[in-house]
Amino acid sequence: MTDAALGEADLRAGRYTPACLVNPRERGPVGGRLSWRGSVLHRRPFHSVVCTLAVAWQALPEAPVAVAANRDEQLDRPSEGPTRRKYGSTIAIAPQDARVGGTWAGYNEHGLFVGITNRWGAGLRSERSRGLLVADILAEATVRAARETVERSVERHGYAGFQLIVADAETAVLFEWDGDLYVRGLTPGVTVVVNVGAALPDGDTLAPGEPSAGRVTEARRSEQATAARQLRERLAPRSDERVGAWLDRSGVALGEHENGVCVHGDGFGTRSSSLLALGDRREYHFASGPPCETPYSEVDEQV
Ligand SMILES: [Zn+2]
Repeated sequence: MTDAALGEADLRAGRYTPACLVNPRERGPVGGRLSWRGSVLHRRPFHSVVCTLAVAWQALPEAPVAVAANRDEQLDRPSEGPTRRKYGSTIAIAPQDARVGGTWAGYNEHGLFVGITNRWGAGLRSERSRGLLVADILAEATVRAARETVERSVERHGYAGFQLIVADAETAVLFEWDGDLYVRGLTPGVTVVVNVGAALPDGDTLAPGEPSAGRVTEARRSEQATAARQLRERLAPRSDERVGAWLDRSGVALGEHENGVCVHGDGFGTRSSSLLALGDRREYHFASGPPCETPYSEVDEQV
């Protein structure tokens, strides 16, 4: 069964039933209600993720993959902007977390996009940076190979909770990790991933009512879920919309403060923003500060 078929069947079911369950300790059973565990928000010593990730997949005629993402992070954590980097033997364009060396969003010479968000409340010990997992995936050529890398890596390493999208022109997959790994093929349209799950083109995995984690209140979780659904509707491509127009208005949407899409906190907030399109032309526009006040500029090098 293909990833896409798994996703379609799951979405048709109209409920949050994992398309595929991979438990490192005990495989299966497939299906059933996602069991949430833990309620401790751990310190995040390795934190290299975005907190709003919108992917328009097979939704714009010129670019099967188009992405708009905000990275929320501690304000004093050093990072470098996107440029040409090598992962394994693969060339990619990605920013970099200067402390650990991983990344949070990028694409490679094979046209493979990878982006990751934090997942609140999983209560897992972080033993390895999630950003290093993104770097591992950027070394891969296909979504299938990326999936094997993710499945292998969560068995081998301890990661804090995450959601991860890997997409190329033909296949797009959402991975959700909260101690179990849920793998879901995306259907064409706009998917918006936030810290409490994903708003998918035909449904969502958002779980705002789950137990609050540390400082994260249920109100904050609910706000995130609402923001994700609103952003999904707002970023739905218009009739005959060109990818440039979609990226432009996505950049505007990412700079707004309603529902905490662009975040300004005490020592923590939206640090940068990325707009990408992978089609006939590959482009990556990067704002090196909060998108409400920082213009995007196009990365010179592309692969
Ligand atoms: Zn702002």
